[in-house]
Amino acid sequence: MRGVVMYAPGDVRVEEREDPRILAPTDAILRLSATCVCGSDLWPWRGIDRVTRPTPMGHEYVGVVEQVGADVRNVKVGDFVVGSFFASDNTCEICLAGYQSRCIHAYPMGREGTQAELLRVPLADGTLVATPGMPDADLIPSFLAASDVLGTGWFAAVAAEVGPGKTVAVVGDGAVGLLGVLAAKQLGAERIIAMSRHADRQALAVEFGATDIVTERGDDGVAKVKELTGGLGAHSVIEAVGTQESIMQAIRATRPGGHVGYVGVLHDVQLPGEELFFSGVHLHGGPAPVRQYLPELIDLIWNRTIDPGKVFDLTLPLDQAAEGYRAMDERRAIKVLLQP
Ligand SMILES: [Zn+2]
Repeated sequence: MRGVVMYAPGDVRVEEREDPRILAPTDAILRLSATCVCGSDLWPWRGIDRVTRPTPMGHEYVGVVEQVGADVRNVKVGDFVVGSFFASDNTCEICLAGYQSRCIHAYPMGREGTQAELLRVPLADGTLVATPGMPDADLIPSFLAASDVLGTGWFAAVAAEVGPGKTVAVVGDGAVGLLGVLAAKQLGAERIIAMSRHADRQALAVEFGATDIVTERGDDGVAKVKELTGGLGAHSVIEAVGTQESIMQAIRATRPGGHVGYVGVLHDVQLPGEELFFSGVHLHGGPAPVRQYLPELIDLIWNRTIDPGKVFDLTLPLDQAAEGYRAMDERRAIKVLLQP
């Protein structure tokens, strides 16, 4: 099969990889319908994460089950399925509590490399969720979004305790931040403040339900959120970047007693203890347990209640993956869909 392999920063190639096969009776093999490039794939592309050997890339996926191991019960050959970027058993105590991304048997799908034609999914019964039938082609980008960015934005909103009557601020205008806006709207937020300096992303944020746009960042952004909230700060803040500046922006934009849901992978972040202590702010986040939300998200997409696939503003054949990485790196695209 063909698959994307990164050799070094700025050097991804589409080449022939060995076809995956069933290794355990709980595995399934998928023929992928669509895959995509994630913001986190840009860290090795930019040389922030080291690439020491040729590495298969990608952790987002949707596709059709082509083969199942002897113990697989919940999905069958021919099903169209969505899975999370972490495989999980969905039976351990951590999974049952709703934290499948921290399952005691969690397996990162990035290790398999989903930017490919075929994919092995371990723990298929606990990981994959089938759609009610074969989806129309125009729904596939939305199901693909559910695999990571939508599920992650949704978790961020839940972690930030978004709900009716609440004012929500969203730090970060990448696909996750934008879908955090969509999630906040679905969860009943009264007011949604999107923080973005890019016109195309502001427009999509408004389409997804943002009521206010703040273009300032850092302390100026915090001041603007406070100005919009009677000096108090937002009830709920979604943090979808992961830098020192963005996490402090999120904490300082939250009112005492409010909640921050942080899903941007933190890079070299130091939290000041004394400021945190006196802030009275709840912090909750981490790798999103996307599996928990998949049944609900699949239903919302299948019924065309939400259209998260709009975050894909560039579609390329898998063979042009390198151009997809470049387009996202240069911010020419919000998110790139790759067609195997
Ligand atoms: Zn588990």
